[in-house]
Amino acid sequence: MKQPLPSNTYLSGKGDLSAVDQAMIERRVGLLGPAYKLHYEQPLHVVRGEGVWLYDAQDNAYLDAYNNVPSVGHCHPRVHAALSGQAGLLNTHTRYLHPGILDYAEHLLSTFPDPFDKLMLTCSGSEANDLAYRIAQLNTGGTGFIVTELAYHGVTKVIAELSPALGEHANLGEHVRTVPAPDAYRNDGSDGEVGKRFARAVQAAIDDMSRHGIKPAAMMVDTIFASDGVLADPPGFLQQALKVVQNAGALFIADEVQAGFGRTGDHWWGFQRHAIEPDIVTMGKGMGGGHPIAGVALPGAQLEALAKSRYFNTTGGNPVSCAVGKAILEVIEEEDLMENARSTGAYLRSGLAKLADQHDIIGQVRGAGLFIGLELVRDRASKEPAAEETLWLVNRCRQDRVLISSTGTHGNVLKIRPPLPFSPDNADVLLRVLDRALADCPELSARLA
Ligand code: PMP
Repeated sequence: MKQPLPSNTYLSGKGDLSAVDQAMIERRVGLLGPAYKLHYEQPLHVVRGEGVWLYDAQDNAYLDAYNNVPSVGHCHPRVHAALSGQAGLLNTHTRYLHPGILDYAEHLLSTFPDPFDKLMLTCSGSEANDLAYRIAQLNTGGTGFIVTELAYHGVTKVIAELSPALGEHANLGEHVRTVPAPDAYRNDGSDGEVGKRFARAVQAAIDDMSRHGIKPAAMMVDTIFASDGVLADPPGFLQQALKVVQNAGALFIADEVQAGFGRTGDHWWGFQRHAIEPDIVTMGKGMGGGHPIAGVALPGAQLEALAKSRYFNTTGGNPVSCAVGKAILEVIEEEDLMENARSTGAYLRSGLAKLADQHDIIGQVRGAGLFIGLELVRDRASKEPAAEETLWLVNRCRQDRVLISSTGTHGNVLKIRPPLPFSPDNADVLLRVLDRALADCPELSARLA
């Protein structure tokens, strides 16, 4: 029986699909159900990857300016060798003695500031946040959590309740308060005000909890605010909010699943850009380059309460995962990918700023390192979000074989977040394709008006 197309095949390009891809979409819906989504009006069927490139079945190359999970590039030979070498030797779990997890923990913890001397491993970012959630509740005796209005932290039941980005049907629970994201562009403030305004909102959330008899446990923050629209500047804007949270006896959890592993350029971790010291840090995604490894880093003192019960995660931290994780750290260091994120990111942002001189639809270019947001507006004065145009641009770039996506409260922020080896030449390709696509936007806006 024919299945309907998934609901997010959002425009009208279904006719462009090959018979093979059309059949695969129907098979997916039939087997996986309707909650799974695909990227792009014309979903992409890729068969292999290398560096910053993905290839389809006809061997067409697509420039990947979207995927941060293959942090050191698709199918890095060093990572592949570490994975297959260890998989061919031994894969067990953390209840046997094995140096792999210890070597990895030592290496990973060496990227953190001093008090962070413990690492716990999980298989996904959601699980890492779930563990941080439990630790925060145990250590504070509180139950309340604060997140931003369009935060995404994962899929477990308690973490879905901290993820308003899942949409209006996701239940946030009575113990959760949301605060407006620290958006310097839309909230018009001078740079110094962003942090103050954010801290005031966090204080109001804590006051509201206490009026309802809820003791706060933690605030959880994605330090690059990816789902809130990529909010990076000014560095330091998290400092006042962190103080407010800690003064209330709650913990500050930095979710580094998006910003971590050198992506923001100057630092290993997004929280370091803000010169803050969170209580707990969670990480995932780029940690395993596609292999499921994630974790929690924290000072040992935060673990005392949890240690009264056992911790065992059957596949979290297995020798293969640790070999992969370690190879990724080595590649980041040896290939100087953090510096590349800084320099190529700056190069790309300055190229995008030049595009903004020619295309009025670009309201703001922002971001840090190789995590870039381009906010698109129909009018620079009113800042009316150009959401349809954003979606159109994402699909147009895909047709031109450059992969990006969109994000933000109004869906009007182009999200550019390539693997870390992205080069200035790669950036030039992206800029050329985007320039051409942007040139068609005024006509599109006129049609939509
Ligand atoms: N936190 C953030 C900020 C994320 O972006 C994500 C995934 N998009 C997660 C947590 C959850 O990670 P995972 O999908 O590995 O469970």
